[in-house]
Amino acid sequence: MSRKKRAFAVIGLGTFGRQVATQLADLGNEVLGIDIDERKVNPIADRLDQAVIADARDEQALKEAGLGDCDVALVAIGEDLEANILCTMTAQILGVPEVWVKAMNKMHHRILHRIGATRVIHPESEIGTHVAHMLHTPYMVDY
Ligand code: ATP
Repeated sequence: MSRKKRAFAVIGLGTFGRQVATQLADLGNEVLGIDIDERKVNPIADRLDQAVIADARDEQALKEAGLGDCDVALVAIGEDLEANILCTMTAQILGVPEVWVKAMNKMHHRILHRIGATRVIHPESEIGTHVAHMLHTPYMVDY
């Protein structure tokens, strides 16, 4: 059974966000990438359906970029907690059904959970756990 194509938005195209966005696109999904820095957007623009230079704190800019039409948003902004939280709220206000968000620490995690993020992720510690399992069980097939 073939999966229905879903529309994703990735906001924050650092190492983590860029990897998620381009992999999702390579897997055949529709992907909108957004970053405030043109040096992050331009190199991958032709690999995504749409790539926009915008400030994630700007609700109108995110609306115009088409964030509200996406099925899932991933907020992959790390250091700037204000931008991360405002962007999470804007995605919800625009009606994105699923909002996944990168958290930087425990308190940040709790805030994101409180404001209704669908899933709060910690990429570094999650990959650390995954690598530990691979090292512990080297014959296990990776996924
Ligand atoms: P990573 O750990 O994924 O490599 P990083 O170390 O480059 O990320 P972060 O602060 O986590 O730095 O930012 C991730 C991305 O989010 C960067 O590409 C940055 O330009 C982008 N970003 C930061 N603030 C905003 C904002 N207000 N609006 C849109 N994008 C932003």
